[in-house]
Amino acid sequence: MAASAKPNQDQDPIEPSRARYSRQILFENIGLEGQKRLGASRVVLIGCGALGTVLANTLVRAGVGSLRICDRDYIESDNLQRQILFDEEDISANLPKAQAAAGKLRRINSQVAVDPVVIDVNATNIERLAEGADLLLDGTDNFETRFLINDLAVKTERPWVYGAVIGATGLMMTILPGDTPCLRCIFEEAPPPEMNPTCDTAGVLGPVVGLVAGLQAVEAMKLLIGKREEINRHLVSIDAWAGRFTNLNVQSAFDGGNCPCCKRRDFVYLAGKVGSTTTTLCGRDAVQVNLGRGIRVDLEAIAEKLKPVARTGVRQNRFMLKAEIDEFELTLFPDGRAIIKGTADVERARSLYAKYFGS
Ligand SMILES: [Zn+2]
Repeated sequence: MAASAKPNQDQDPIEPSRARYSRQILFENIGLEGQKRLGASRVVLIGCGALGTVLANTLVRAGVGSLRICDRDYIESDNLQRQILFDEEDISANLPKAQAAAGKLRRINSQVAVDPVVIDVNATNIERLAEGADLLLDGTDNFETRFLINDLAVKTERPWVYGAVIGATGLMMTILPGDTPCLRCIFEEAPPPEMNPTCDTAGVLGPVVGLVAGLQAVEAMKLLIGKREEINRHLVSIDAWAGRFTNLNVQSAFDGGNCPCCKRRDFVYLAGKVGSTTTTLCGRDAVQVNLGRGIRVDLEAIAEKLKPVARTGVRQNRFMLKAEIDEFELTLFPDGRAIIKGTADVERARSLYAKYFGS
C-alpha cells in the first residue's frame, strides 16, 4: 500500500517553510508560534525609498503574510546608493519604485503576497489603502504624509512605526495609539521648510538608513507577533557619525499633553483640512503645488540650501526663488506655493517639492 503522500488540505501553512524560517524560529522570543503569527500578518508600507526598501526587504524575508507598498515615485540614479531593492536595470526600464520593489520581493520570497500601488498617498485614499492592515510603516520623507498616517493610525487605533533619516542622524519611534505618544504629541506641527533639511539638500548615508529601518523592522516584528508589551516606548535618536544612540523618554508628552490628534481627536490631516493641493497648469508643462497652511517660508534660507544642487545657481528676491535642478525649473513663493516647470505630472511635482523644499 502506498504511503499517504497526498498533502493534507488542512496542513499548517507554516510547516513547509519551517526550514526557511528556522533561524528566526530558533530565536526564543519568536518561536514557531510567532512565526505563524507573522505569516498571517498584513502590513502596509507607505513610501518605498531609502527606509521603505530596507523595511520591505527585511519583512518579506522574515515572512509576513502580505505587504502592500504605496509609493508615488520613479527611480533615479542617485537613489541607488541607499535604496537597496533597486538597480540600474530598473532605471533603464523606467519602473516606478513600488513596481520595481515588488518584482524583487517576489523573487526573494514567493510566499508573501506583495501588492504594489503606484500612488500619491493623501487624505482621499489613505483609508482605503490601509484597509485590513495590522500595522502601518513609515517609509516616507515628509511630515505631511507622516501626520496623515498618524491621524489614521490614532483614529483606527492601529500601531505605526515612525522613522526618519538625514545625513548620519536618524529618529525612530513606535506609536501605540492611546498608550504611547503619537507623532503630534512630539511634533505638534511640521517644521517650516527652511528648518526641515531633506536628503536632497543635506545628504544621507546608506548605513544610517539601514540602522533606522532595522530598528523599525524589529518593532514591527514585535507588534506583528503580538508582543505589544515589549516594544521600545522611547523616541530613539541616532547620530551614527558620532556613535551616539539615545533613548529619549517622551511618555510625559502623552500622559500630561493635550495633543490635538490623540487627545482632542481632531484629525485635520485625515479630513484634508491641512495638506497640500496641486493643480496642473494647462499648456505650460507645469504644476502648482500649494501647501495651504498659511505659512511663511524663508526664501533666503531655502536658496542657501539649494545652492549645491541647482544647475545654474539660485535666483532669489523677496517675492520668489527660482532654481534649475535637472530638467526642472522650480519657483517658490513666500507663502509656500511653488510652480514646478518641466512636468505636467502632479505626483512628480509633489515629489520634487518634498525633495527640494521639504514639506
Ligand atoms: Zn498625540
